[in-house]
Order: sequence, then C-alpha cells, then structure tokens
Amino acid sequence: MTHYTGAVPAAQRPTDWRLLGACAGLDPDRWFPRPGDTLAVQAAKSLCFGCPSMLRCASHALTRGEDWGVWGGLSEGQRHTIRKKYKARQLENPARLEAAVYEALHFELNPTETLRSVWDDNTHVLPGGHLGWQGASASFSFHGISITPKQLSFLLDRGRKATGHVRRSPECPVVECIHPRHLMDADERRQRVAAEREARAATELLAA
Ligand code: SF4
Ligand SMILES: [Zn+2]
Repeated sequence: MTHYTGAVPAAQRPTDWRLLGACAGLDPDRWFPRPGDTLAVQAAKSLCFGCPSMLRCASHALTRGEDWGVWGGLSEGQRHTIRKKYKARQLENPARLEAAVYEALHFELNPTETLRSVWDDNTHVLPGGHLGWQGASASFSFHGISITPKQLSFLLDRGRKATGHVRRSPECPVVECIHPRHLMDADERRQRVAAEREARAATELLAA
C-alpha cells in the first residue's frame, strides 16, 4: 500500500520548482515509502539533498500541511516536529522557514559532525567560570535523537546518559549556565540529599 496522494511531484498544474526538482520524471512512489521503510526514506532524502527545489518543496509541504511522504528532504516526523515548534505564521517567513529546515536537517547534511564538535562549536565561556550555549537553549536533534545542551554537557563530562532532568546545582547562580560541573541529574541530586542527611545525623549524634 502506498500513501502517494498524487500531489507531488506529478501535480496536475506543476509550478516551476516541481519541474526543476530532482524527482521530476521519476516514479513518485519513491517519495512516499511504506511506513517504517527507513531505507526508502533515506534514498528519497538523498535525492532531495541535491535538489535545486529543496527549500521551495519543503516550504510547500510545511505551509500546506502535507502529512505523507518525503518533501524537501524532510520526513513526515521532521515536518511534524517543525510544525509543533513554529507557528504557521512564522513558517510563512522565508528566512525563518529556511532556518527551521536546515536546523532539522543539520546533522544529515553534515554527517561528520560529532556531539563533541557540536559542543565545541556552541559553547562559550561566561564570566565567573560558567559556560553558555550559543543560540536557543531548547533541545536540538542529533541524527534523529533529541537532546538538550544540558544533557549534552552531562553526557560528555560523565560519559553516561543523565537520569531524569538535568538541572543546575544550587551553587551556580547563572540561569543559562551549562557548565558540566554545575549540573546534576536526578541520581546525583538523590545521592546529595542522602549524603546531607547522613552528615546531619552524624552531627546530631556527636552533639548529643
Ligand atoms: S526536494 Fe525532493 S520531493 Fe521536493 S522537488 Fe526536490 S527531489 Fe522532489
Ligand atoms: Zn555555572
């Protein structure tokens, strides 16, 4: 079964971007793979990534609410994420739309980027030995996995995935700080509470 709706790329009244598209004249079903067929999605995307109409195509799909298939190099899930993150009005702004598309495709278009290079490229030193993150501090997608700058900071420093929310320790007063030594995950907060309780109990025992 296919989800091809006949809308792209062989629409009834093709506009220039469709005629210029890398998929022009090819079997449209290739851009409407079966659900879960990730190889077919990747094959479609790889043609989109070299397509001169990529942004126009992505814009069309995002502003018209196309739910099925690969458009402008974006999978169904990626378009869903972009539409959740940005209001329709924002996506009508070409610059905002372009930024949203390249943000979503960043790691696919730059496959040699590693989490370490993302960290190095996006962090900057703040006064007092704190660390800041360039741009929006919300989560970003790395090869399909959503991660926040705080989670990344924790992962690279501790060598393990954080449990629960990663939060600033009470000693760090800088709201935007993501210095790994100023962050704690749920396990570390629990251990700290337990250690403080033990220390209090020991003090009370000695004072008795
Ligand atoms: S971006 Fe992809 S789906 Fe869109 S016109 Fe180009 S090749 Fe076709
Ligand atoms: Zn700090």
